[in-house]
Amino acid sequence: MSSHSNSTSLATVDVLPVPTVTRTQAFIDGAFVDAQSGRTFPTYAPSTGHLLAMVADGGVEDVDLAALAARRAFDAGSWSHADVRRAAMTRLADLVEENAQELAALDAIDAGKPITDCETGDIPEVAHLFRWYAEAIDKVFGKVSPTSEGHLGIITREPVGVVGIVVPWNYPAVMLTFKAAPALAAGNCVVAKPAEQAPLSALRLAELATEAGFPPGVFNVVPGDGPTAGRAVGMHPLIDAVAFTGSTQVGREFLRYAAESNMKNVVLELGGKSPQIVLADMKADLQVIAEDLAGAAFGNAGQNCTAGSRVLVANVLREELTDRLAQAASKIRLGDPMDRSTEMGPLIERTALERVSRYVDEAVALGARVRVGGSAVLEDTGGHFYPPTVVDQVTPDMAIAREEIFGPVVAVLGFDTEEEALQLANDSEYGLAATVWSHDVDVSFRMARGIRAGTVAINGYSEGDITTPFGGHRTSGFGGRDSGIEAMEQYTELKTTWFTLR
Ligand code: NAP
Ligand code: MG
Repeated sequence: MSSHSNSTSLATVDVLPVPTVTRTQAFIDGAFVDAQSGRTFPTYAPSTGHLLAMVADGGVEDVDLAALAARRAFDAGSWSHADVRRAAMTRLADLVEENAQELAALDAIDAGKPITDCETGDIPEVAHLFRWYAEAIDKVFGKVSPTSEGHLGIITREPVGVVGIVVPWNYPAVMLTFKAAPALAAGNCVVAKPAEQAPLSALRLAELATEAGFPPGVFNVVPGDGPTAGRAVGMHPLIDAVAFTGSTQVGREFLRYAAESNMKNVVLELGGKSPQIVLADMKADLQVIAEDLAGAAFGNAGQNCTAGSRVLVANVLREELTDRLAQAASKIRLGDPMDRSTEMGPLIERTALERVSRYVDEAVALGARVRVGGSAVLEDTGGHFYPPTVVDQVTPDMAIAREEIFGPVVAVLGFDTEEEALQLANDSEYGLAATVWSHDVDVSFRMARGIRAGTVAINGYSEGDITTPFGGHRTSGFGGRDSGIEAMEQYTELKTTWFTLR
């Protein structure tokens, strides 16, 4: 999840140098350390296929050291003081801003994200999250219950203790911060495992946290692969809650880990197949809608959990809207993520390119039609580029209409009635987000009520903002929400203290 910028007019058009990678070790108990095994793994630039750095390959022992350090820090108690947390997190927000250029460049090169998106979207959002949750620390407190005379019931929220965080690569710094900022604000210590494909900004953030005054052990980062380091976080007996963002398939694993270990709280933010629904009364607005749909489908090269990957449009508007969407798609500038004029970068890795190509090729074999895009481009760069692709003549049973593609591909389907639109929108195992376009308030409200999703946006693709909880229904999520005060609550346990007054 994240806001993305689709702005096309940039004052300065230039290409930034590939940043120097200075931090590649795990960050445990306030210091950079090698993996216990001494092993490292490579992280590459998806835009060229070049090796960027060899990074400490954390395993079970490293997660164990980090969890022990986090528990020690929690028990030592200095992080329990609201003023200590507020000061350190506010300072971290400042340091993120002071080092924004470096952090933006790390995410851009490591994950292949356009540098402009990182500079104007991701990194400012990271600073905003740390500052917003720092300010919330002393504004969330407990209740006194309306008990009978002779008793006093006090309801408080306590931090769970140690929070494990496992996140994907699509918004590397933002995904980590969505979990870490509310967990830390609520008084917990964290052990984070960033994605193997883009671990670099997390290591720099942990270092900045220490500079900001976080006590050793409060914020640990253990890079490593999912089935080893990620699993170790899920299974660790000293980790009291785990916050995961990633695929539905791996989300299921985290439920198993919790069941097989200490029944830790599990918060899952998973995949989606978010419908963008355009009702018949929108004829006069089709250009605005087409541009918004292109942003929703192709922002971050479609590697976005809420990507608007299904366009459901009233049949009377279908041909014209599909034409305009194809035109908007064809204008998006693909290229080097370090070039400030680039609007779309490569896919994260070769297997992603193969997966996306396969979805499109299979749909075509079943009778779908590619209106724009449809095969890999810029192959001479060594990068994994796939262009914005619009596919129509799609039927609801095709995989392209049902499964999360996680690439820049949008499937267009038509409907005749409002009921049919709602039925198509809900014909999915996912329920993360949806957008409804209509000027008829009654219709849009009925649709918003009827759609089974965590966020329904009206008249413009959106995930809401920091004040609104974000997460999914059904296989899109479980156990809580990112964003909003609600995100802090999920890293706490409720406690009742009951007095008998004598
Ligand atoms: P993924 O394969 O599920 O990986 C996510 C994280 O889990 C990575 O750190 C990964 O480590 C780790 N992991 C992988 N296998 C594991 C295992 N067996 N046990 C423990 N940890 C494991 O997801 P992805 O393909 O990188 O990311 C894309 C997915 O994230 C999409 O489904 C997308 O919709 C979802 N997403 C959801 C949201 C949301 O807020 N709802 C936001 C963004 C993305 P490695 O790096 O080693 O693979
Ligand atoms: Mg990388």
